[in-house]
Amino acid sequence: MKFDTIIIGGGLSGLVCGIRLSQKGQRCAIVSSGQSALHFSSGSFDLLNKLPDGSNVISPQSDISKLIEQVPIHPYAKLGEPKFTRLASEAQNFFNEIQIPVRGSLKENHYRITPMGTLKPTWLSVEGYASVNDKEKLPWKKVSIFNIIGFLDFYPRFIAEEFAKLGTESDIKLFNFEPIDHLRRNPSEMRSTNIARVLDQHINKLSQILNERSGDSDAIIFPACVGLDYSAVKRLKELVNKPILLIATMPPSIVGIYTQQYLHDYFVHMGGVYMLGDNILKADIENNNVKRVYSYNHGDIPFSGKNFVLATGSYFSQGLIATSERIYEPIFNLDVNYSSDRTKWYTDKLFDSHNYQHYGVKTDDMFRGLYKNKPIENLYVSGAILDGFNPVKEGSGAGVSILSALSIAETILSK
Ligand SMILES: Cc1cc2nc3c(=O)[nH]c(=O)nc-3n(C[C@H](O)[C@H](O)[C@H](O)COP(=O)(O)OP(=O)(O)OC[C@H]3O[C@@H](n4cnc5c(N)ncnc54)[C@H](O)[C@@H]3O)c2cc1C
Repeated sequence: MKFDTIIIGGGLSGLVCGIRLSQKGQRCAIVSSGQSALHFSSGSFDLLNKLPDGSNVISPQSDISKLIEQVPIHPYAKLGEPKFTRLASEAQNFFNEIQIPVRGSLKENHYRITPMGTLKPTWLSVEGYASVNDKEKLPWKKVSIFNIIGFLDFYPRFIAEEFAKLGTESDIKLFNFEPIDHLRRNPSEMRSTNIARVLDQHINKLSQILNERSGDSDAIIFPACVGLDYSAVKRLKELVNKPILLIATMPPSIVGIYTQQYLHDYFVHMGGVYMLGDNILKADIENNNVKRVYSYNHGDIPFSGKNFVLATGSYFSQGLIATSERIYEPIFNLDVNYSSDRTKWYTDKLFDSHNYQHYGVKTDDMFRGLYKNKPIENLYVSGAILDGFNPVKEGSGAGVSILSALSIAETILSK
């Protein structure tokens, strides 16, 4: 099987890279073993919320130079300030053009409302999901927070308590919704995905309940257990007679699953080949170039290409494997930046920054993977597997995944 570019890993980073290459006429394949981090996503993409020295970032665009100064091996430092700014603007256009509507700006973070009702800075939020501009005051005097009786992955009371701290009154409304009654027979069936499959088909009935019971509230808050098909969210917004904002629930994430599925469908629509449920196991490297990769399902039949992109994610997706002695990248055995002293991987304070969080695969400034300190010429590394950044502490996870993918696509296309 021959392609221009073969991408290993079909999460956010692999898909953004694959779509960009396909848009420009490349024949691409994505091989992906399973679910990605998107299935657990908040519905917002973070670019930069905190600098490594702990200071808060209001404007990623203004603070990028400080980040580069503090962490010269950061993936954003490899891009440099002008390219970071250009690609972050392009990323926003990328999503809007392919019709995943997002709001936000790299000039100023806004705030998404978490399932606990707290406000967390972020860069881009999918339209329809609860986000606000001001972290000191919400734009509503009173809201109605709805939940379906028996849905345990959403906690209106926590949200109401947090809103009260910001001066917004909440009216909690629990309701029964007869079309989902069959799910109640088993409590484990009352999950966001199962509920969304039903609610998406009953938007008229749902909007009627929300309209009738939201009284004099300025806005409606509803758990994101609707919108596996995004047109259902659009329709709900049209039919409900006041602003309605969805808040992500405990996983699985409806907005994340929707985004993953939409990006997948778009990639295939652009002519890409996506092989789900297959695992790349090993590669042939000749003269410092990857020639072929082999997968579990295809055995001896190789995938060959001019370029390869490794977007297999971090520990969570097994792009990186940590044993009690070492951390390694399992397909190419690329150089991984980590301490050989295991006690340095973590601290005993759970919520502190841990070194393992920024360990990852070493690359040169073009994101080419290093093997024994030398870049492999046609192997690019993108997304969560990269070294030099801490997505949890910095709030930079999606930003690194998207910007490294766009940068790699640019490099491949310029060859
Ligand atoms: C649980 C969780 C929630 C997160 N939520 C957010 C959020 O809300 N906002 C945010 O900004 N960031 C979030 N992040 C940070 C996240 O890392 C990035 O946002 C981004 O989604 C990572 O994308 P990725 O494509 O690099 O990796 P992943 O999403 O991890 O995708 C890697 C893919 O590669 C596949 N794969 C792995 N090995 C192989 C192999 N050998 N062969 C074939 N396929 C393989 C995996 O199955 C997976 O599908 C979250 C991270 C986690 C872990």
